[in-house]
Amino acid sequence: MTDNKNQNLILKPPVVVVMGHVDHGKSSILDYIRKTNVTEKEIGGITQKLGAYEVVHNNSKITFLDTPGHEAFNTIRERGTIVADIAILVIAADEGIKAQTEEALNLILSHNLPFIVAFNKIDKPEANIEKVKQELANKEVYVESYGGKIPSVNVSAKTGEGINELLDLILIQAEMLELKANPALKAKGVVIESKLDPGRGPIATVLVQNGTLRGGDPFVVGLYSGRVRAMFADTGEQVHEATPSMPVEVLGISGVPSAGDPFQVVESEKYARQIAQKRQELVRLESAQKVKKVTLEDLNAMIKEGEIKELKIVIKADVDGSVQALRDSLQKLSTNDIRVKVIHAATGGINESDVMLASASNAIIIGFNVRPNRKSREMAEAAGIDMRMYEVIYKVLDDMTAALSGMLTPTVEEVVTG
Ligand code: GDP
Repeated sequence: MTDNKNQNLILKPPVVVVMGHVDHGKSSILDYIRKTNVTEKEIGGITQKLGAYEVVHNNSKITFLDTPGHEAFNTIRERGTIVADIAILVIAADEGIKAQTEEALNLILSHNLPFIVAFNKIDKPEANIEKVKQELANKEVYVESYGGKIPSVNVSAKTGEGINELLDLILIQAEMLELKANPALKAKGVVIESKLDPGRGPIATVLVQNGTLRGGDPFVVGLYSGRVRAMFADTGEQVHEATPSMPVEVLGISGVPSAGDPFQVVESEKYARQIAQKRQELVRLESAQKVKKVTLEDLNAMIKEGEIKELKIVIKADVDGSVQALRDSLQKLSTNDIRVKVIHAATGGINESDVMLASASNAIIIGFNVRPNRKSREMAEAAGIDMRMYEVIYKVLDDMTAALSGMLTPTVEEVVTG
């Protein structure tokens, strides 16, 4: 990097994802922010859902990923890394921590994503913020007003109370993170959403992460290539340039890419086409072999190759006592070469969110006296996740110890038919 290039670095707006339990008010908060912070020009204009939108607060831009709920688990991940710079963990103050709050929190913590807690629905008489703070403290998450470091804010998406403060907090976080980009470079970004429009062909919402994207730029996106034929901002307006952290709809792609696909401007359309063809070939070759996920069978080899330094585990068990016992004894198996880290432990059967979390974090799943439902079994199979059921604790520990030392004897897979 030359000095010249560093001089081009500018601060870029933060990209924010809103997470939390269903019905805790994620969409309401996103809607409220969008409604009250759009620029003059957009009011009355055709605002469209691009999967992300920009707002201006105190003269600074913030980009929100507009995919609340479980899709956010995937939207914030771009091939294992995170698209969002900051997460907002929304917790309804009348309900407190729920299953998906916990999942969101686990995902945030396992990816070291900076976050802000928004206690929502404070207009409700049943709201009990102190109680929720206590619940968070029980999970070792200490908010600032509870002697900790995690910023938090009390909001109501209904009355709008606290929303400005939330936006202030986002900008403060962003300032501390010093998110930088170089607008002089060729654009690089990630696909947030995509579709096939019957009239206009394949369309992708691209979140520009670095550089500047311009009309006419040749690019590769996932398995496809193209040249920017037209670009539209989240306001519906046609734009000719997109700068870092800006989401834009891009037209002119040879096919429909997937959310999470990397987008990269290259020298020429011909070169772009060659890369796309290469990638398609590779996918054909690889489709026979599954994506490599951590499995207990390969664990020792992966440790030796230095491919993993941390074994992440999701534990589901029938009773709380077993959850605690498993969590404690598994974590104690950590060695100098590998850290055993339980990223989620709870009572209950293995559900889809457990599998999603395991997939997002490349974890294995251990079920103790519980079973996966059909959907989660299928999901785990498709994603190549190692999911193991046990009925005695010493067997779990035996297997794990054997896996860590590379002595695991292959188990006969349980086959479920019908
Ligand atoms: P999401 O599933 O997390 O996106 O939750 P929604 O935004 O759809 O909100 C769920 C319900 O809670 C809706 O009926 C909202 O109107 C309501 N709601 C959201 N925020 C608030 C709030 O701050 N106060 C009150 N009283 N209701 C809210």
